[in-house]
Amino acid sequence: MKATLEDQNLLIELQLIDSQITQAKVKLAGLPEIEQITAIHTRLQNTAVELSVVETELADVAIELRRSELDVEQVDDRIKKDETRLNSGIGTPKELEQLQHELVTLAKRKADLEDGELEILMKHDGVKFRVDELLNDQIGLQKLELELNVRLENAKAEIGATMAELGGARSALVPKIDPALLELYDKIRHSAHGVGAALLIGNKCDGCHLAINAVELERIKGLAMDEIIRCEECRRILVRI
Ligand SMILES: [Zn+2]
Repeated sequence: MKATLEDQNLLIELQLIDSQITQAKVKLAGLPEIEQITAIHTRLQNTAVELSVVETELADVAIELRRSELDVEQVDDRIKKDETRLNSGIGTPKELEQLQHELVTLAKRKADLEDGELEILMKHDGVKFRVDELLNDQIGLQKLELELNVRLENAKAEIGATMAELGGARSALVPKIDPALLELYDKIRHSAHGVGAALLIGNKCDGCHLAINAVELERIKGLAMDEIIRCEECRRILVRI
């Protein structure tokens, strides 16, 4: 295949643009914010799961606490009633003695219940603390997610603008190149990691960076400049400088 030197140089120019477009795409797909947002989502999900468990626990402990308070109140009422009866002095001495015994038992029962209540109260406070901690985490993560989303959108917009600019330059360049040469370039480009044309620098192909053997190099030197040559190693179009 033959192509003018100008066309060959334009092809290298096109390759530069295409390589920059590829780089922009890679940068877009690998923006650190994408991974960071995914990590935040996982943490938010985990927080929500734990929060639901701990909130249920808190509701249960609150019921337990109320029950315990009622138990104490009940014993307290009974004590007050017994004390009133005892203080009134009404009843047989045996009955009054029984009341005194009962008061001792009730006082002990009240102390035990209060100990239990205190334990539940401490448990309640501990669970409540964890709920608040998780709610705070949730707020912090949501705030961070918002910030990251803004950063991601800005970075995307910046790369998008670069890509639009490159796309414009490509569209302006393509019609200037021989369609047959362009077709060959595109075909190679799609099967050679986005690089279809490379410069021959010294005895090296700038596409695969391998040296061209001396015999081949001599053969190339003997060819007319409008002859399209291909790297023997990577099959890319080689443009002589
Ligand atoms: Zn090569």
